[in-house]
Amino acid sequence: MLTDIAISRAATLQPISQIAAKLDIPPEAVEPYGHFKAKIDLARVPATGRQGKLILVTAINPTPAGEGKSTTSVGLADALNLIARRTILCLREPSLGPCFGTKGGAAGGGYAQVAPMEDINLHFTGDFHAITSAHNLLAAMIDNHVHWGNALDIDVRRIVWRRVLDMNDRALRDIAQSLGGPANGYPRESGFDITVASEVMAILCLADGLEDLEARLGRIVVAYTRDRRPVTARDLKADGAMAVLLAQAIKPNLVQTLEGNPAFVHGGPFANIAHGCNSVIATRTALALGDYVVTEAGFGADLGAEKFFDIKCRQSGLKPAAAVIVATVRALKMNGGVAKADLGPADADAVRRGGVNLARHIENVRMFGVPVVVAINRFDGDSDAELDVIREIAAAQGAEAVLCTHWADGGAGAAALAEKVAELCDTASPQFAPLYDDGLSLFEKINTVATRIYRAEEAIAEPSVHAQLKRWEDAGFGHLPICMAKTQYSFSTDPAKLGAPTHHVVPVREVRLSAGAGFVVAICGEVMTMPGLPRVPAAEGIRLGADGEIEGLF
Ligand code: ADP
Repeated sequence: MLTDIAISRAATLQPISQIAAKLDIPPEAVEPYGHFKAKIDLARVPATGRQGKLILVTAINPTPAGEGKSTTSVGLADALNLIARRTILCLREPSLGPCFGTKGGAAGGGYAQVAPMEDINLHFTGDFHAITSAHNLLAAMIDNHVHWGNALDIDVRRIVWRRVLDMNDRALRDIAQSLGGPANGYPRESGFDITVASEVMAILCLADGLEDLEARLGRIVVAYTRDRRPVTARDLKADGAMAVLLAQAIKPNLVQTLEGNPAFVHGGPFANIAHGCNSVIATRTALALGDYVVTEAGFGADLGAEKFFDIKCRQSGLKPAAAVIVATVRALKMNGGVAKADLGPADADAVRRGGVNLARHIENVRMFGVPVVVAINRFDGDSDAELDVIREIAAAQGAEAVLCTHWADGGAGAAALAEKVAELCDTASPQFAPLYDDGLSLFEKINTVATRIYRAEEAIAEPSVHAQLKRWEDAGFGHLPICMAKTQYSFSTDPAKLGAPTHHVVPVREVRLSAGAGFVVAICGEVMTMPGLPRVPAAEGIRLGADGEIEGLF
């Protein structure tokens, strides 16, 4: 089998205008970025009256063995198109951090990819640049305001707006800034987060248009005064300029799958520390242009799907018709205690032991009233006995598990899955509802996710965290949902506890208010909002070949 990049490069892509034409997007709405990418100007897309069905692809807890969520999302969208269902794929954009760190690219894999994969994985249409710039403009305006007299009476010890960069760089996690004397401002401690964790990213993903974008930017709380009153981006008069920087970025990006089907790749990844979904604008556009829309919520369903339902769907009113939970033999074996190096030999018992992880995710997704089908993403070497165990585990939960070979075979390899998904969408009557009510206290919401989704005994926090949540409730932010930040590897906050751990507690280390995005971030356990690079980063293997083509990006 060729590498992902070799397969992508060998594909014959259609001009992006042809992909847009398939969706009846008028030519004047298509803003090409080269031959194979375009931004879509929604002001020039006429209303259709169409209301497509929304399908969420999520997964069991990830392991280093890989699950292939993006690959399955692409395969399913291609397969639905193959069985003559007008389907659009909606993915989030990749971040440079994991691309040069451990994971490699995030444009699918094998014969189920979106293309051009190099562009999508690298600078693409510049959205992350725009988000980084808008975020850091606000940071610069805060320090500048203090420097020139601090009319808003910002307490420099209570500036909560950090800076961002789209790179894994542990050196910037905690910094001392403004050193070097009065001309450089007031020295203080601060730090950088990775761009995908920026509230500006979340705002871009959740805003329903330019007006809402600017209003949300204005609501960002950047600091507190000495008497603890919140200071916003609007107080600093930064919202207008930030919106200007984002005006192009908010337009959805149209690309294609290797089989020439339309895909909107728009919005931020990282469901462990952010909410991690495709933008509301792109998803809505797709629902108006297609009959079925396949979208992905990253990592395990405990993080990605929960936030997709409790944040994105709650805020936007979207109602998913069905969910696909991706499982693999290899990842279930690892959840059953097998080390990565020992994944070779068949071990149906280990799949059964690890199957508790899949069973719990099925139960959890159903809790939101959404019907579930399991996609088994087949890897070479999976034995029939192991595959049967996955079918049994799903059946015990009353769900069907469908074997898929889209990685090797493209859309045709997921045709059976597509039939099942279409049937669910067309016949089931989902009763989608978020997990908790807006009216619960902020900590009760955190505790609800911890106990019902993570199956913890309880969530715990220092008195200072409780006091902070109380202050936000008093200031009128108590109705907001929670964006949990925790390790993606486990239902618990301990990445080593695989399977379906019980009797654990969820320690809430820190809380951050994202008043513009419209949620409160609860940082649980050791998860970091600025990752580091591994001992041998993927970057070491990436280079330009003699012909100028990129090598080593996978
Ligand atoms: P996720 O979205 O779960 O992070 P991806 O879809 O990005 O995973 O896939 C991660 C990697 O695994 C990609 O390089 C892809 O080519 C590979 N992969 C996915 N499915 C398979 C499969 N069935 N067999 C072999 N490799 C696969």
